[in-house]
Amino acid sequence: MAIIKPYYQEDRLKTIDSISYTVEDLILKDKVTQKDIDDSGKLVIGNNVCVIAYNEAGKEIYSSDSLGQLCMFDKEVEIEEDKFVIEKDPKKMIEILKNRSPLSMEMSSTIIDKEMALYGRQIKANLANYYLLINTPLEPIESYVSFILNQYLYVAIIAVGISLVLAFVLSRRISKPIVDMKQEANKLAQGNYDASFKTNSYSEINELASTLDDATDKLSKINDLRKDLLANVSHDIKTPLTMIKAYAEMIKDISGDDPVKRNEHLDVIIKETDYLNRLVTDMSELSKLQTGNITLSKANFDLKQCVLDVIELLSQLMEEKNITLNTELVDVVIYADELKMSQVIYNFLSNAIKHSDEDSLIEIKMIDDENRIRLEVIDHGEGIKEEILPYIWDRYYKVDKNFNRSVNSTGLGLAIAKAILEAHNARYGVESKYGEGSMFYFELDKDYDEQIEND
Ligand code: ADP
Repeated sequence: MAIIKPYYQEDRLKTIDSISYTVEDLILKDKVTQKDIDDSGKLVIGNNVCVIAYNEAGKEIYSSDSLGQLCMFDKEVEIEEDKFVIEKDPKKMIEILKNRSPLSMEMSSTIIDKEMALYGRQIKANLANYYLLINTPLEPIESYVSFILNQYLYVAIIAVGISLVLAFVLSRRISKPIVDMKQEANKLAQGNYDASFKTNSYSEINELASTLDDATDKLSKINDLRKDLLANVSHDIKTPLTMIKAYAEMIKDISGDDPVKRNEHLDVIIKETDYLNRLVTDMSELSKLQTGNITLSKANFDLKQCVLDVIELLSQLMEEKNITLNTELVDVVIYADELKMSQVIYNFLSNAIKHSDEDSLIEIKMIDDENRIRLEVIDHGEGIKEEILPYIWDRYYKVDKNFNRSVNSTGLGLAIAKAILEAHNARYGVESKYGEGSMFYFELDKDYDEQIEND
C-alpha cells in the first residue's frame, strides 16, 4: 500500500485535471451531443471520481458519479471553517469558488477513513460563470489495492518464471559445452586420443575447444610415434645392438689375434652402427616432420643440379651393382626447401638401386610443364605388388621384413619423402608392376620467387 500511494496520488491529480477540462468543454459547448455526454460519463465512471457543476444560480447543470457512497458532495464538509453540505447549499460553495479558484484541498472522509481530494474551479463563459467540483479518494480503495497487488503478483510470478527458464537455458548453454569438454578432457587424461572438443558454443569456448583439439591432435601424433618407437626398438634397434655385442665378443674371444677375421667382424659392427645411425637420423627427421615442428627453408634453386648432386652421392652404390643410369634433365629453378627435396630424390633413387638387380637400368626424367615440374625415378627391378602399394608410404613399412639391414632399410624413407612432399603441397605417387619395376614421381609447383632472385 505504502508503495502504491504516492503513484496513486500523482495519478489522481492528473486525472482530476483531465476530467475538469473535459467537463468544461462539455459545459461550454453550444451543442452537446449524446456522444459527448457518453464520453464524459465514461471518463468519470472509469476514474473513481464524482463530478458536479453548478450555474451562477446554484442550479446543478452537470453531475456524474462513480464513487456512490463515498462521494462527499452530499456529506457535511468543512471548507474555510464553515461546515455545510455542498449539494444542499451550493451557493456557499459558489461563493467560496468565486474568491478561491481553483480550489484544491484535502479532507478526510469519516465514512471510509481515507484522505479525499476536493477540487473546484470557476469556469468563465461569455454570458455566465459555472462552478465545477470534483471529488476523489487520495488513497486507493481496498478493492483497487488488492486488484493492483494481484496484478503485481501475477506479473511477479510470470517474471520470476521467465527468468528461471532463461537462467536455466542460459546456464545450460554456458555450462553444457564446458561439461562436455570436461568429459572429453577426462578421456584424454585416460589416454584416449579420440577425444574431440568440438562445440557449437559462443566464440571464446569455440576457440578454447579448437586449441584443445589441436593439442589433442599433436599429443595423438606424439603418442603414435612413441608407440612406433617402442615397437621398433625391439626389432630395428635391438637386433643391430645384439649383433654389435655378439661381434664385439667374438673379436674379444676369438678373432682378436686374427687380423683378417677381426676386420670382417669389425666391418659388421661398423655396418650395424651405420644402420643404427641412419635409423636414429630418419626417426628424428620423421618425428619432426610429422609433429609439424619443421619449417621449410624455401629458396630458389636449380633442381637439375640438385639431382646431379644426389646421383653423385649414390654413384658408388650404382657402380657396385653395375647399374646404368639414363637421365633426361632440364634446367629449371624452383622455389622449395633444397635440402629436403634432395632428401626425397635421394630416397627415391636409393630405393630404386636397392630394389634393382645387378646390370639393370635406372632412369631419371624431369618433365617441365610450364607451371609444374615433374620428376620420375624409374627402375626395372623387382616392382611392388599392387595390394601393398598403398602401404609403402607408411612409416616402418617394409615389404620384406628381413630385408638386409646393411643396405639401410629403415622402412622410413618413403614416409619421410611423403611428409616432405606434403609440406610442399606436391603431388606424388608410384606406379609399379610386380616383377617389372617401379616409377616413383613427384610434381611440384615451380613457384619461382623472383623477389628472392633479385635480392
Ligand atoms: P626402406 O628403408 O625399407 O626402403 P622405404 O620407406 O623407403 O623403406 O620403402 C618402403 C618399402 O617400399 C620398402 O620396404 C620396399 O619394399 C618398397 N619399395 C620402395 N621403393 C621401391 C622400389 N623402387 N622398388 C620396389 N620396392 C620398393
